[in-house]
Amino acid sequence: MSEQAQAYTFKAEIRQLLHILVHSLYKDRDIFLRELISNASDALTRMHFEMLTNREVLDVDAELAIHIDVPDVAEGQPKRIVIRDSGIGMTAEELRYNLGTIAQSGAREFLARVGEGKVDPNDLIGQFGVGFYSVFMAADEVRVISRSYQPEAAPAAWVCDGSDSFRIETAEKSDRGTEIHITLKKDAEEFANAWKLRQIVKKHSDFVRFPIYVGEEQANQQQSLWRKSPAEVTVDEYKNFYRQMTMEFEEPLLTIHFSSDVPVNLRALLFIPAKREPGILAARKEPGLMLYSHNVLIQEYCTDLLPPWLGYIDGVVDSEDLPLNVSRETVQNNRIMRQLGKTIQKRIFRELEKLAEENREKYATFWQEFGRAFKEGIATDPVAKEDVMPFLRYYTSAAEGWVSLDEYVARMKEGQTAIYYVIGDDAKSIANSPHLDPFKARGLEVLYWVDPLDALIAPLMGTYKEKPFQNIDDAGLELPELGDDGETAVSTSTLSEKAFNLFVGRCVTTLGDRVIEVRQSKVLKDSPVRLVSPKDAQNREMQRLYRYLDQNYEVPKKILEINRQHPLIESLARLVEEHPDSPVINMSIEQLYDSALLQEGLHPNPAHMLPRIQELMMLAAQTGK
Ligand code: ADP
Ligand code: MG
Repeated sequence: MSEQAQAYTFKAEIRQLLHILVHSLYKDRDIFLRELISNASDALTRMHFEMLTNREVLDVDAELAIHIDVPDVAEGQPKRIVIRDSGIGMTAEELRYNLGTIAQSGAREFLARVGEGKVDPNDLIGQFGVGFYSVFMAADEVRVISRSYQPEAAPAAWVCDGSDSFRIETAEKSDRGTEIHITLKKDAEEFANAWKLRQIVKKHSDFVRFPIYVGEEQANQQQSLWRKSPAEVTVDEYKNFYRQMTMEFEEPLLTIHFSSDVPVNLRALLFIPAKREPGILAARKEPGLMLYSHNVLIQEYCTDLLPPWLGYIDGVVDSEDLPLNVSRETVQNNRIMRQLGKTIQKRIFRELEKLAEENREKYATFWQEFGRAFKEGIATDPVAKEDVMPFLRYYTSAAEGWVSLDEYVARMKEGQTAIYYVIGDDAKSIANSPHLDPFKARGLEVLYWVDPLDALIAPLMGTYKEKPFQNIDDAGLELPELGDDGETAVSTSTLSEKAFNLFVGRCVTTLGDRVIEVRQSKVLKDSPVRLVSPKDAQNREMQRLYRYLDQNYEVPKKILEINRQHPLIESLARLVEEHPDSPVINMSIEQLYDSALLQEGLHPNPAHMLPRIQELMMLAAQTGK
């Protein structure tokens, strides 16, 4: 070791990763080149941005490019390749930190999966992209020589043979950037071949923004796909572009490519990803669109074009109307930016509308993944509400699958004045909600609002197509009378007025001030009781949210409505008449109340009911026949 060299041991997880990379046989080893090119491209992008404001850098006029060369070696000597960029470069300290101390998240994920023991690392590596260290799949030794863009920084080298340690040394390098000298393993000599290297570049890195030269020749198209006319672009080109830009494994759900000249010049290539959560390999680390002016990148993650709730949309926007030297502030407060944003958003909505019309199934997939974003839109962006409402989808009491508000309104019954909804925890339990009884009887459709966000935005919903939204737990709800076939509760009840009133009195004494009132229901059919909100109830949707958030939750006081014709009520009322001291009575009333709370999604702790249920079962078993 020379005097100026300093040896370091890798962090434990990097040691582990290196061990796997060096000692396994991989089928897609060529991805190491993609990783090194992607690092070079990142370094060039950072350089590009640095030079927008700082001209005091080393080699200010150097071309921003990547070079891959295969140096000649003497017969019998190990073959080599060199990858060189004119990017931001690294100081000795940065080399030590970036290539020895931090482990990329993809690498950690990879180790976790391998650690589970269920998978063969050979099948995994391509999916994870473990970053710089993947070079050791093909290398016996790697020497990274780098010189930072800062004029006074000294060049330095990082050297490693894939073992547990690396060295930092002084080095000679007069120009800015990073060179990676790779001494290939014997069984990886195939990579020391310009033709093969060009092929790999084409396959994985064709759309990298900077030229990649293999020898003298540029190997990537470096193409601005968005500047072409959509008619000239093939489906595969879109797919490849998306994959190389985002490194997402799954194809995008929707690709939107368009241009416009009025009111603003614009070319855009946008993608709606397949999943809301980015993949582990994802190259795009923040939300935002890539903003170009005249084909020059001016912002890598521009969040000023679309509202935050549309942040899952990825892609490129290019405009000739934006000045090249825009600063961060002008981007934010720029009339052109606002026009660009408006145009893009309108186009996205139009494409989604088209998708909903032409491909119900695919729209359902989209809704499943991104539906909540629309509700966030309503919650945070009141201006957006009108635009967003047609995209909402709900399960309802009348149909299989998702239903739009337009569909709902189109099949509203004659004389129906409101859009009815019921709030609950999930579609299955809500389908049995006692509130639905009168609606089922009248064939009225009810929207199931089962997402906590539905409750949150309920007060903001207002009207749709001039029809107000109406919660069906409302006590004052007026519904049309049922026809001849719909008998009212009172007419079929075998309970005398006196017996029923006695039972109501018993409910009042048992439940005390937990309920506002106990009274006979005019609408219940299949359910024994239900809880309804008093007419002027405030904030009832919020109560449910408080319960989710566990915040000072107080069970809201409601009106208990009783179904006089229900067999259970009839039996209990008789029991009150004949055996007023039976313990079954109070326990049953408590249980009816608890069950109703549970059905409303308002029960603070359902487990509390268990001892009582057991006791009731005991009593039933003792008297059972
Ligand atoms: P990632 O690219 O996800 O950060 P890598 O393992 O690929 O992880 O690279 C680790 C770090 O090393 C990078 O974040 C960067 O700081 C530094 N680096 C790697 N290659 C270069 C390069 N060619 N020029 C400048 N810095 C580099
Ligand atoms: Mg990387």
